Amino acid sequence: MSADQAKHRVVIIGSGFGGLFSAKAFKGRDDVEVTLIAKTTHHLFQPLLYQVATGILSQGEIAPPTRDILHRQKNATVLLGEVNDIDAEAKTVKASVLNQEISVPYDSLIVAAGAGQSYFGNDHFAEFAPGMKSIDDALELRGRIFGAFEIAELTASRGEPVGDLLTFVVVGAGPTGVEMAGQIAELSRRVLKKDFTHIQSEKARVVLVDAAPQVLPPFGEKLGDKAEKALGKAGVEVILGAMVTHVDEFGIEMKFKDGKTQRIGSIAKIWAAGVSASELGKTLSEQTGAELDRAGRISVKPDLTLPDHPEIFVVGDMINLDHLPGVAQVAIQGGKHSAKTIKARLKGKPDPGDFKYFDKGSMATISRFNAVLSMGKFKLSGILAWFGWLVVHLAYMTGFRNRLTATLHWMMSFIGKDRSERTTTMQQIFAREALERVPGGMAALIDDPADVAAQVESRRKELEEHAAEESRLADSGSRGAS
Ligand SMILES: Cc1cc2nc3c(=O)[nH]c(=O)nc-3n(C[C@H](O)[C@H](O)[C@H](O)COP(=O)(O)OP(=O)(O)OC[C@H]3O[C@@H](n4cnc5c(N)ncnc54)[C@H](O)[C@@H]3O)c2cc1C
Repeated sequence: MSADQAKHRVVIIGSGFGGLFSAKAFKGRDDVEVTLIAKTTHHLFQPLLYQVATGILSQGEIAPPTRDILHRQKNATVLLGEVNDIDAEAKTVKASVLNQEISVPYDSLIVAAGAGQSYFGNDHFAEFAPGMKSIDDALELRGRIFGAFEIAELTASRGEPVGDLLTFVVVGAGPTGVEMAGQIAELSRRVLKKDFTHIQSEKARVVLVDAAPQVLPPFGEKLGDKAEKALGKAGVEVILGAMVTHVDEFGIEMKFKDGKTQRIGSIAKIWAAGVSASELGKTLSEQTGAELDRAGRISVKPDLTLPDHPEIFVVGDMINLDHLPGVAQVAIQGGKHSAKTIKARLKGKPDPGDFKYFDKGSMATISRFNAVLSMGKFKLSGILAWFGWLVVHLAYMTGFRNRLTATLHWMMSFIGKDRSERTTTMQQIFAREALERVPGGMAALIDDPADVAAQVESRRKELEEHAAEESRLADSGSRGAS
């Protein structure tokens, strides 16, 4: 047996907080071979996605390459691939990228595939109200937000009323929704004020909607009230107790508890409500019998393993354990705990036992110099909480270069009135939708471009014939009427 074969093979799925921190925990271990598989090439710092969407930070600052982060870790291999199957009996993980398939065997498996956006069964809302889970989402939203101001300026330049073009609706008053709404308000009232000729950007209407009776429910009533007042001061209109029942190109519809309904016209809508765990939870549930909850999260044993499979660990947003929240620290600490258990086993020591989450508190910014912070019984709001937010986010950001450039961008945005990351392109806004419409998706384009071209051509001919037929009918109809 070669030296390499004697190594314990740890496969990690996901390069988010759970995946990255568990991989790092094996640094320096010659007896372990780590393979990290993720469907993106970067580690994404999701808490700052809203700053990419509102032009404060660049995508590179919050999404450094995983390969670069781990390049000094000699026992780690990073592979790009979307995991589509896990065989718990054969102990293999299957992944593919652009029709390139791989099958990776493991001795221990750590699954940290996170969660996606949930539209509570209304997935068609996504087309008109993108969520905020990925770099693609943030760039698309950046395009839609800045694009709305452009369209309003164009309309006003023709002397026409701007109407709802400057109404922004954010659905979901959790930390993401609050931060997003606060930043759009700040953008319109501070940053863009000087940039337009025909519109007054500061008159933009920013609406935050939630079915819950308060903003930031996990922060408690007192901080929720403070946050709501601060949002009001920043220019955000908060509508609570309103369930969003319909979303289309031109607005949203809400239903209140008393049955009344209301429509808000808006072309720029952002969905920040609800998460649904990775589909891999379902695969693991089918294989191990572990239960799934309504959000698709898998019930793990207290040590984060699955029933009858002590070699499979699940961490982070995918798990259902003791009502743990879907926050970065649960994923980080879970990843480290899993690695610790594997390392103890390799040394022949007893398992460290149950996962004990240490709650380091949560925080959300409302506007510049204003945030709320909740740490057990300790609650704080205002500028001190904002500095707390700044320090924590800098500490957890990956890489010195990113910390440095983010600090510069924050100074420019919060002390000055500048936002240097405002670039958007039509491709960023629409290319994803266009690709999704290609028969077979991007993989088909690479695999068999001629076939895709033929299908597109045939569809074009079909549409042209349809249009010609419609115009013939309209023509004969109008002649008949005259
Ligand atoms: C907009 C936003 C703001 C947030 N703000 C905060 C905050 O302020 N504070 C806080 O503590 N938490 C915050 N969170 C939550 C926090 O980011 C998550 O709890 C944390 O990222 C969970 O880590 P994870 O490792 O479980 O999953 P993720 O970080 O989501 O990582 C999942 C990884 O799995 C990969 N993946 C998924 N499916 C597959 C597959 N099939 N094959 C291969 N790879 C796959 C993904 O590409 C990704 O690399 C926020 C989340 C969002 C979306």
